[in-house]
Amino acid sequence: MADFESFGMGWEKLLDQVGAQNALRHSIENDRVSHAYLFFGPDGSGKRAAALLFAQSLLCLNRAAGQADPCETCAACLKVKRMTHPDVHFLMPYPGEDPPDDFRKRLDMLAVEPYRTLDYSRRPSIDDLSQTSNKQTIYEVRRVHDELIREMSFRPVEGSYKIAIITDADRLQKAGANAFLKRLEEPFADTIFILLTVRPDRLLPTIVSRTQKVQFDRIATDTIARYLTSIGTDASDAALISRMSDGSLSRAIDLADHSELRSGREVVVDFLRVSFVDDADATEEAVRLLAGQGREQVKLYLQLLLAWIRDLLILRQTGDESTLVNVDQIDAIRSFVAKLPDADVARMVSLIEEGLHLVERNVNATSVLRSLGIGLRDAMKGRPGGNLYQPLARTSSGFVAKSALA
Ligand SMILES: [Zn+2]
Repeated sequence: MADFESFGMGWEKLLDQVGAQNALRHSIENDRVSHAYLFFGPDGSGKRAAALLFAQSLLCLNRAAGQADPCETCAACLKVKRMTHPDVHFLMPYPGEDPPDDFRKRLDMLAVEPYRTLDYSRRPSIDDLSQTSNKQTIYEVRRVHDELIREMSFRPVEGSYKIAIITDADRLQKAGANAFLKRLEEPFADTIFILLTVRPDRLLPTIVSRTQKVQFDRIATDTIARYLTSIGTDASDAALISRMSDGSLSRAIDLADHSELRSGREVVVDFLRVSFVDDADATEEAVRLLAGQGREQVKLYLQLLLAWIRDLLILRQTGDESTLVNVDQIDAIRSFVAKLPDADVARMVSLIEEGLHLVERNVNATSVLRSLGIGLRDAMKGRPGGNLYQPLARTSSGFVAKSALA
């Protein structure tokens, strides 16, 4: 199967991000490299891929002056690509003080696919995509001293730069961030810090002000679809996934790994069907089936359901079939639109969005799905209805998710 590596040469491999790419290429071509960069932008937009390409370009042994592209074949390029270059330090926050046993394995996987979700908070287990964790991942102060400050004070071993790539840099704790700031205030000539974050607002302003900012944006749906087909995803799955992934290639790759995507859509459409006919036993059975598969899987199901209902909404409002996500289910969608003229499809969308939000906030998935089934039934029949989440008391600690979810 093809991978990241086969998706073009050098900087072509970075998907979209024309602005970021131009800024970084320009600084290499003109030999005006900063001591500290802040790559910020949404999840899955390519910050890690860009940081690694940048490191590769800077350390490449064959790169001609005034050129930005790495040769990708010299010893330095290969070491950066394999995440084994002694002058490139790739840091991820993790739970606890010591590196987890699978740290190296994660780096090896990133070397193959830098867009893959591999950090400890979004993916606590490498093997089980559905596993979640409530453990906080941070950069311990000791780690900041050892891996950022002390390590980065040594001369480069092989290349002309020493580069630290600090992913999820907003996980630097206050003491660590202050220690790191001192280091940034007195930069060595040959060290480069690249801070990556989705949340630049959570970094110390004094750190942010010492960096060159490079913004990343959501990747275009078409680009994601093209990438997915290039790595062997079936074209109609790629069309569906790219529209579900909200501009994140990491999310898209995770979705593509769920081989049961197709059967998942049947499961959720079936959930809709049993909710509509108001068959309590069948609904309970469907809820049990969905909820029994874990929180991440429930989220995926709800996203599939959302994509399906959004298609209904588009088809009903515009009659335009060209922008539908579930292109292969057009007959089922047409028949729903024809048979349920009273359905409040916009409310169905907001109910599912609310359900997703509640599941993300760790509300019991069975309760959410049960309540969602009732809400969808009423919306499909054109009956009035409210939210899933009913405020029980507004007096003391704000809202309590009980009532409808009890
Ligand atoms: Zn090279």
